[in-house]
Amino acid sequence: MIIDGKKVAVDIRNKIKSQLEHFPDTKITLATVIVGNNPASQLYVGMKHREANAAGIHSKHVELDENISQKDLEQQISLLADDDDVHGILVQLPLPKHLDKQRMLRKIPPYKDVDGLTDVNMGRLLQGYKQLVPCTPLGVIRLIEAYDIKTSGRNAVVVGRSSLVGLPQVLLLSERGADATVTLAHSRTQDLAGICKNADILVSAVGSPALITEDFVKPGAMVFDVGVTRLENKIQGDVDFDSVSKIAGGVTPMPGGTGPMTVACLLENTILAATLQDVLPRSH
Ligand code: NAP
Repeated sequence: MIIDGKKVAVDIRNKIKSQLEHFPDTKITLATVIVGNNPASQLYVGMKHREANAAGIHSKHVELDENISQKDLEQQISLLADDDDVHGILVQLPLPKHLDKQRMLRKIPPYKDVDGLTDVNMGRLLQGYKQLVPCTPLGVIRLIEAYDIKTSGRNAVVVGRSSLVGLPQVLLLSERGADATVTLAHSRTQDLAGICKNADILVSAVGSPALITEDFVKPGAMVFDVGVTRLENKIQGDVDFDSVSKIAGGVTPMPGGTGPMTVACLLENTILAATLQDVLPRSH
């Protein structure tokens, strides 16, 4: 089975369109920020704007110079933070090396943090009060829900331990309600293939092309490919789709799997953010 992220993302976008009817007097607006001219960042942000506009969400874009200082970057974020017409702020990562991501994130008010990456939203996720949750791991959960994949009591393995994907994925799969038993693997993990082979649900968020072959996959397992590597003539995921699709119960394609779901969940978070002004703190 191909786990079709494109299709589920369209369903979410349609749901968002109807949710927007509850906000007849508000122009819900997502602001994006790019620092420098990384072509992949330009591509991803372009996609986010197109999808937002297709769903009926307004967007605003800020491009900042590659060499901007930390202080000036934080000032720019503060302008968006203070703008009542902006409901969600997304700063496309990675930032140029001289900039401090954590300090920048602290300028995003938690209630506008549609990427779910600020200390407050990460902490709330850890405490089980989840509202704005990182979009990529949330997208995997939305796929699990859409395909009615059982997680309770199942073994899940997440490969990759970033705060953007792997760590929140572990929390979302192991929280009450999802109830999977989760193993977190990373670059120091011994016998990665053996550990992955125990997974009923396998999420790979590494960025190592075709790392996950059929030798890593239990027959019937559900495999979610998050990693993206741009090769000369194609985009390659962490999963060797041809071999894995022969043995897995379901697998996301790359492209067309977790990528569109990340964007769909960003839109979902933007609508949610518009309702959270009085729920989440305004500053850190
Ligand atoms: P990251 O911060 O670089 O984390 C990568 C993780 O992979 C690290 O925890 C690292 O382990 C682990 N790792 C590296 N080599 C490994 C190996 N051989 N075996 C096992 N684990 C290994 O990256 P990220 O931000 O989480 O992103 C991961 C990938 O997902 C990237 O390719 C990124 O482009 C992609 N991505 C896709 C989407 C989407 O929508 N599909 C969204 C976001 C990111 P250590 O911690 O030990 O170094």
